Amino acid sequence: MTTEPAISIHALTKSYGRVQALRGVDLEVNRGEVFGFLGPNGAGKTTTIRCLLDLIRPDGGTTRVLGLDPQADPVAVRRRVAYLPGELNLEANLSAERALRYLADLRGDGIDWNRVRDLARRLNLDLKTQIKNMSKGNKQKVGVVQAFMAPAELLLLDEPTSGLDPLMQQEVYRLVREAQAAGTTIFFSSHIIGEVQAIAERVAIIRDGRIVQTVEPRELISMSVRRVRVRLREPLPEGALVAVPGATLIERDGDSLTVQIEGEMDALIKTLAAFPVVDLETERPSLEEIFLTLYEN
Ligand code: ATP
Repeated sequence: MTTEPAISIHALTKSYGRVQALRGVDLEVNRGEVFGFLGPNGAGKTTTIRCLLDLIRPDGGTTRVLGLDPQADPVAVRRRVAYLPGELNLEANLSAERALRYLADLRGDGIDWNRVRDLARRLNLDLKTQIKNMSKGNKQKVGVVQAFMAPAELLLLDEPTSGLDPLMQQEVYRLVREAQAAGTTIFFSSHIIGEVQAIAERVAIIRDGRIVQTVEPRELISMSVRRVRVRLREPLPEGALVAVPGATLIERDGDSLTVQIEGEMDALIKTLAAFPVVDLETERPSLEEIFLTLYEN
């Protein structure tokens, strides 16, 4: 078993004219990991992934994919890597099946067509439909099928659940876990914290072309400030939240209250559990809130 990382990126820079998309990205992904690449729109996720496949050339820095230099050995890299682009451009007049057969032929290694049918069934995708007649979500499913149809050592997924409804998102998460169980390394980009928390084992946070931090997903919770809205059957007694660490009462309106909570929820939930709770809603932290916490620290 090789000990080389699946992905190794050092001091990667790339500009498009005057836009500095990458300002020195450093990143290492171990073999067998599910690694999330989290950042807002325009942070540089797609640019980084495209450099790994030599689809664009960086201005500086080094990349290694499965121990190979993508610029020196692009064909060898692509043979061992499966890629789901953010936007897969397929010939509009082809059916999904024809498009997938074409992509399978390009890969060259024998694709097990039973695997393709099984993926299509799981994603509820009709292979006979022409690409031009497909919704955005169904086109995305064709992309997902092509990424998962071939055995690969590394899967590069650029926003894999973009445009998919929640049930289909869950199916993609299952595919990711199955691929990992089969020994594949998965590197996926996302701007959704919940998605990264659902499947990633480690997360690199990118902003403005730089990695801000690499963390485990559960650390994202402790970095965040969330609002919780609670409705009780009767008003909460004064001072009931005083002993809850990180909690601040923002608003009180009769039986309803809005609490801001930093870090874990445990103490708040246990305190509220002593009262009759009618409803409870929490907002997921936004990426911006996490950035604020990061910069405060
Ligand atoms: P998104 O989530 O929106 O896809 P991203 O994190 O993948 O964002 P990139 O697509 O890598 O970000 O873009 C990084 C920056 O580079 C952005 O400011 C973007 O506008 C710019 N950029 C990307 N591609 C090009 C291009 N071909 N020409 C000019 N600027 C580009």
